[in-house]
Amino acid sequence: MRTAASYLPNPVAGAIEATDRVPTAKVLARRALQRRQMLVLVGASYVVDAMVLLLYAWAGSIPAAIGPAFGICGLTSVGCFIAMSEAGINDRFKDHYFVVQQSMVSLAIMLAFAWLAPEVGILFLCTLFVVFSFSALRSTPRQTAIMWTAMALGLAALFLLTDKPVSIPHESYLERFTTMLSFALTIGRCMFLGIFASSLRQSLYQRGVQLKEAYKRIEELAELDELTGSFNRRCIMRMLDDEIARAHRTKTPFSVALIDLDWFKRINDAHGHPTGDEVLRTFAITVFANIRNIDRFGRYGGEEFLLIMPETPHHTAASILDRQREIIAALDWSAFSPGMQVTISAGVAMLAPDEAADALLARADSALYKAKAQGRNRIAIG
Ligand code: GH3
Ligand code: MG
Ligand code: MG
Repeated sequence: MRTAASYLPNPVAGAIEATDRVPTAKVLARRALQRRQMLVLVGASYVVDAMVLLLYAWAGSIPAAIGPAFGICGLTSVGCFIAMSEAGINDRFKDHYFVVQQSMVSLAIMLAFAWLAPEVGILFLCTLFVVFSFSALRSTPRQTAIMWTAMALGLAALFLLTDKPVSIPHESYLERFTTMLSFALTIGRCMFLGIFASSLRQSLYQRGVQLKEAYKRIEELAELDELTGSFNRRCIMRMLDDEIARAHRTKTPFSVALIDLDWFKRINDAHGHPTGDEVLRTFAITVFANIRNIDRFGRYGGEEFLLIMPETPHHTAASILDRQREIIAALDWSAFSPGMQVTISAGVAMLAPDEAADALLARADSALYKAKAQGRNRIAIG
């Protein structure tokens, strides 16, 4: 079942659209629909008040012409706003709802009729508060301040310029009934506003949760490391788990290598971080171009990479890595900076029966440490 608030313009759609992008035809159509819905509600509100005024006229509180005149003024203003909205004029402005303009027209109508028929002035003032509260939900803090200040000034003018009391009719039974009806309708509209405000808060909260979930999902889907184009850590670790499970299942030899660039800090220090980035990129592309289809290569962190070699015993893995090491060392790095030399060290480890990823990586890491300790630009087996 749709709630009352669901008939109101979607509060969040506008908030989310509030960007500098040129709105698409679909967005413009949705905005026009939201404005139409809102203006129909405003029109209905004028008609309801006009009927209450007719009841007051029947009770003899005010002249009979007040109700129809009020209805005509209100509906004419709504008609003008609908015409502007349908002509697409509103879309040229940031505040396409024309919140301030509509509130000011409403203020003028209410004050004029409160001045013309102060005997039922309270009805207009109540409606004015409802209209301004509704507008505040759609306006910026600055617009809200402007609108309420204008209302305060308008009311001051009304009370100072008329010597007739702005009152609540309560003499006859019909007057008391109509006043009761008028307050009931005001309370009903306030309730509608309350529902709108809470649905706004609820939708914003839900959108926030959805955005968070979507962001998490995007992160999960992003498999590649931004800088080097190799698999990122999350992805390569997942691949490692899968390949280890497969190797255990098929009882095939399986090796990994942790590869680390030698003295990379010095490269950064001597040639700058952007050159360091280029070196990392070139290194990754070179390794990628020289691995087998079955191998998986990803960034483990910083300048350290993980190479997964399924169906590979450790001596084959070591020779694969040694070949990579030679290729990297033989590359002409002077294009980045004259005299630049880049070498790598790697620690190779072969999966033991029932071994888990952590233990395998720890052995590869200590082999890497050994390669570094032995002078770098070499491969060690763990
Ligand atoms: P070692 O031979 O012992 O590995 O020495 P190293 O200097 O390579 O090792 P260390 O761990 O001291 O320094 C690694 C450096 O790698 C420090 C860090 O600033 C740099 N680094 C990590 N990630 C990036 C990156 O994405 N881009 C660049 N340019 N540098 C990075
Ligand atoms: Mg290093
Ligand atoms: Mg390192």
